[in-house]
Amino acid sequence: MNLPGRIEAVLSRLEQAGYASYVVGGAVRDCLAGRQPHDYDLCTAALPQQVEELFADYHVIETGLQHGTVTVIVEGEPVEVTTFRTEGRYSDGRRPDSVAFVSHIEEDLARRDFTVNAMAYSPIHGLCDPFGGQEDLEHKQLRCVGDPDTRLQEDALRILRALRFAAQRGYTIEPETAAALHRNRQRLSHVSAERITSELLQMICGAHAGSILMAFSDIITEILPELSPMIGFEQNNPHHKYDVWEHSVRSMESIRPEWLLRLTMLFHDAGKPGTFSMDERGIGHFYGHPAVSYDIAQQAVKHLRLPVQQEQKLLYLVRHHDTPLGCTLRSVRRKLAVHGEEIYRSLLAVKKADCIGQGTAPQNLTELLQTEALLEQVLQENSCLTRKDLAVNGHDLMEWGISGQEIGRYLSEMLNRVLDNPACNTREQLRVIFDQLQTQENHMELTINGMSAGCCVRQVKQLLESNPAVTKAEIALDSGRVMLYGQDIPLEQVEETLAAAGYEVAI
Ligand code: ATP
Ligand code: MG
Repeated sequence: MNLPGRIEAVLSRLEQAGYASYVVGGAVRDCLAGRQPHDYDLCTAALPQQVEELFADYHVIETGLQHGTVTVIVEGEPVEVTTFRTEGRYSDGRRPDSVAFVSHIEEDLARRDFTVNAMAYSPIHGLCDPFGGQEDLEHKQLRCVGDPDTRLQEDALRILRALRFAAQRGYTIEPETAAALHRNRQRLSHVSAERITSELLQMICGAHAGSILMAFSDIITEILPELSPMIGFEQNNPHHKYDVWEHSVRSMESIRPEWLLRLTMLFHDAGKPGTFSMDERGIGHFYGHPAVSYDIAQQAVKHLRLPVQQEQKLLYLVRHHDTPLGCTLRSVRRKLAVHGEEIYRSLLAVKKADCIGQGTAPQNLTELLQTEALLEQVLQENSCLTRKDLAVNGHDLMEWGISGQEIGRYLSEMLNRVLDNPACNTREQLRVIFDQLQTQENHMELTINGMSAGCCVRQVKQLLESNPAVTKAEIALDSGRVMLYGQDIPLEQVEETLAAAGYEVAI
């Protein structure tokens, strides 16, 4: 086993002073598996005080003296050295009541979670593997050290560590250990949100996360109970081959391994079981599900205590995973102006993964690839996408005789025109548009399905909201339908409502 020079140096100084010392845990496992370890933990028979004295000529940090850990800075890199120890009883299922320093490596290895993590190596003493870790590693098998129930009851975090290692490395979980994971899942309630989240986010980014989430869905819903209705919920839809849970897991696997995107895919269809309806042909529909998924995700993420900004982004992606991103230069430009490039790209990735996870019709995927090509074209144009990019600003409008809130309204309307036709983003052209707007006064454009209606969005909303069956309205531009909470209203009805109210409608 090849160890970095600084690790060898620390081991050799400890050994020369008469203290048996080893590299232990993850680094040994990774080296034996032919992977580059990302850090090296050392353990030693020396007491923390003795380590400090022995490395008095180095910068030494007392990382966790009561747990026996001292950090020695060697060549600018921290090296953690921990005294061999055993752990006392775990009365709270979280952490040991006490630790005791011991003089033999075997005793230290016995407290570790899985056999593959319970090996130690030293250039002098060779490999120390009292629990058959090397053999399990060869079979890519994860097995608790000792009795699985006892070990998981000591520290329930080990349940998630098992799933995380399996998801990252493709290990299978030995049957008795697997059974104990299921049996002890309720003990996760003793584990802090921070530790749960850290394991969960690493787990879902693992290359083998899909099969683990399928096989241990009961453990995932122990952490995120809001997701349990998805499991086994059939979609009865020709576009979907899988139930809601399997579709979500497959979509999750189809997006790049960034936790925010992966979590988005896990949550994106959480609203489906609650919005299911079946038409007369026996086909299942889930009208309005993104809004319900959003509400469920909002509840579910509370268990995870994510950073606020990422949480907001995740919820936004869930909410908009089904809104169209445009299929013409003009509509892509508009969508880009609404979402901004970063979110637009994330939404595109979400939609592609969603599509792949359906396991059917690749036609939508083709359309998304076309949208992606249009996006690149729009970005190449380097055209105006925000009010700030307009060739005129608020001062110009004031010069032209506009003041107060009207300024914002005019700028937005000009931006709308410029998004449709980037060439008109010159001062002269915008002046022409300004004059037109002034004469039209209050006459705004509603674009539905890429076409315009001569009315204003606010009026449509008001009209539809006055319909007593409707509690919340939201215009879904470009979709050809107006989505309302719980129901969607055909375009014709919008048209009718507007016409009945005396508006000129040209949809
Ligand atoms: P990674 O490559 O993800 O860092 P690792 O095995 O090094 O994997 P760490 O969390 O860094 O994992 O822990 C280092 C070692 O400490 C483990 O290999 C294991 O031997 C032991 N260990 C860590 N957490 C626990 C735990 N909750 N219960 C028992 N042993 C543990
Ligand atoms: Mg580690």
